[in-house]
Amino acid sequence: MALTPDEFYDHARAAADSELRLPLARMTGWEISPFEPEGLRVSPLRPPVLPEPPRHGEDPADCGMCKARDEGLWFTDHWRLARVAGVGVPLALMLYPRDHYDLAELPDELAAEMGVLTTHVVRQVQALPHVARAHVYRLGDGAAHLHLWFFARPAGQGQFLGSWLPVWDDLLPEYPAEVAEADAGAVADALVASYGGRRTANA
Ligand SMILES: [Zn+2]
Repeated sequence: MALTPDEFYDHARAAADSELRLPLARMTGWEISPFEPEGLRVSPLRPPVLPEPPRHGEDPADCGMCKARDEGLWFTDHWRLARVAGVGVPLALMLYPRDHYDLAELPDELAAEMGVLTTHVVRQVQALPHVARAHVYRLGDGAAHLHLWFFARPAGQGQFLGSWLPVWDDLLPEYPAEVAEADAGAVADALVASYGGRRTANA
């Protein structure tokens, strides 16, 4: 069984200093870290707070992702794909079930579709010129409605490897929207050809 919240806090605090600051992480010592270790310090640890605050859309009646079920650039009856605007990477896409499910509640039939679809989205994003890799993330801490992130890493930018990419994304200037929109359309068209689905919400 996992440590209780208090046990976990005590366990972490034992490694912190008198201000509850942990030492700098191994990741900040990685030479591609966006932050130089000198002058950097870790935020003080905060004690656990229970119960956790509700996520957006815990009640499907208030879920913005349910209300947006017809918004996006590619659709099947079960899924939709949308472009995330305002990011720093060349392309960020989000895959949502059109109905309200979190990952742990997803029926097996939809989970199987998600696996195949994830492969196709990655394949089509990586087929874009000047994109080296499509990263896939499922976090789920902010919203109850399942949403899978696809982040395109720009080719040649070896500093943006791995789990630092979302941090670099936040630091980078906004990527040109018209370029991202055209590439998102190319991915959607390629998905229609390779997987099926359509460019409009309703058949
Ligand atoms: Zn929802």
